[in-house]
Amino acid sequence: MCFIHYTLHACNHWVPQPKPGNGPILRICEEAETMRLGSPCPNTEHKVANRSQGVCEKCMWKKLLK
Ligand SMILES: [Zn+2]
Ligand SMILES: [Zn+2]
Repeated sequence: MCFIHYTLHACNHWVPQPKPGNGPILRICEEAETMRLGSPCPNTEHKVANRSQGVCEKCMWKKLLK
């Protein structure tokens, strides 16, 4: 089972983009690596990898533009 990692922000939005240094967004499992030549499983799971105390970028911009 492969995973797509998200950051869960304080505004409750899931953003599939970890902060720099947290590694790749998509984690490909061993099975997929060997059987599917590097493409993820069809039933890739979405998973919260990080929690942010702040709001996501979109919400931040909304705030700034108000
Ligand atoms: Zn997989
Ligand atoms: Zn947001």
